[in-house]
Amino acid sequence: MDDVGIIEDGAVAIANGQIVEVGETKFITEQFHSKNRLDASGKVVTPGFVDAHTHFVFAGSRETELEMKIKGVQYLEILKQGGGILRTVRDTRTASKKELLEVCKRRALGLLNYGVTTIEAKSGYGLTLEDELKSLEVIGELNHSTPLTLIPTFLGAHAIPPEYSGRVSEYVDVICETWIPEISRRKLAVFCDVFCEKGVFEVDHSRRILETGKRNGLLPRIHADEFFPLGGAELGGEVGAVSADHLLNMSGEGLESLKRAGTIATLLPAAPLTLMIDKYPDARNLISNGIPVALGSDLSPSCWIENFQLVISLACYKLRMTPAEALAAATINAAHAVGMAERVGSIEKGKNADLLILDASDYRLLGYRLGGNQVNTVVKNGKPIVKEGRLLVAEG
Ligand SMILES: [Zn+2]
Repeated sequence: MDDVGIIEDGAVAIANGQIVEVGETKFITEQFHSKNRLDASGKVVTPGFVDAHTHFVFAGSRETELEMKIKGVQYLEILKQGGGILRTVRDTRTASKKELLEVCKRRALGLLNYGVTTIEAKSGYGLTLEDELKSLEVIGELNHSTPLTLIPTFLGAHAIPPEYSGRVSEYVDVICETWIPEISRRKLAVFCDVFCEKGVFEVDHSRRILETGKRNGLLPRIHADEFFPLGGAELGGEVGAVSADHLLNMSGEGLESLKRAGTIATLLPAAPLTLMIDKYPDARNLISNGIPVALGSDLSPSCWIENFQLVISLACYKLRMTPAEALAAATINAAHAVGMAERVGSIEKGKNADLLILDASDYRLLGYRLGGNQVNTVVKNGKPIVKEGRLLVAEG
């Protein structure tokens, strides 16, 4: 992860939206001739960023909860009082599909401006079959109406909806018996995720949901050991999850389980920051154990972060990842974590031409500078969609 494979004075040849060659400028310009050239002299070219964990589809906002957090009210306590996820569930259910689509389209264009070209996008604020379908359909439509690539994840097991309060087993029944087969039949999701957490979906329920997803062709991923060492990472490895996410309180057995299964650890350094928890996942331990680490924003109403470059910086400053490790985690490893490594995540012959030109003379400026936007140009499938930091796609 610590070797990003830099080509000094490099060039990339693109045709039909794909990378056809990459190498030294002299070598490329001898072989290929085109009137359409982008000059990246003195700048860094990287793959488009891949955000491996977003709760992308939601309506409304929860700025009032910031004051509660400042006063020390814990997240699971806010949830118990009907706030947190449940507030967003009400707002998302109320929004029509058209309204939700408009909000999410603006959000998608915002991410592109910061250099994010592929994201994993979860449902999980509908929590009725109808509203989960609505959320997943919005993701599908954004794939057509914006240049952003969204990989849809069904997260019906995000919270226990109020109508199932105290009846979690019945809620798991309906997810497994009705919702997953319907979502699978309509091909609305690639992944099935679960919020495996004490007092929400504990290990047995989580296992049942992920196994049902697998039988219906949905790849497993898991919110694991964020607040308590519940055994989420162990379960992630057991079911062969593509990615296990958060991992703040992972046990030693959890780590071994991920290692055995080849599960990717997706770390979300903005999550503890916005939860005001002074605890971060042990990225150094994961990396020294040979577990591939990916990065995600956790973009959601509780962690509203739109600048993925800030996530890269937080990985450096809070997780002690090197800028090279953070860049790998934000591109190729994240591409693996969303099942897209064949197409995106690196500048390689045959892959989609999703590239960034940074206003930076050294890639390490990415981790080092905090909170700005260093993206000058975004190329998506061979087409420039951001130039000089300005989005060329109409917002309408
Ligand atoms: Zn999450």
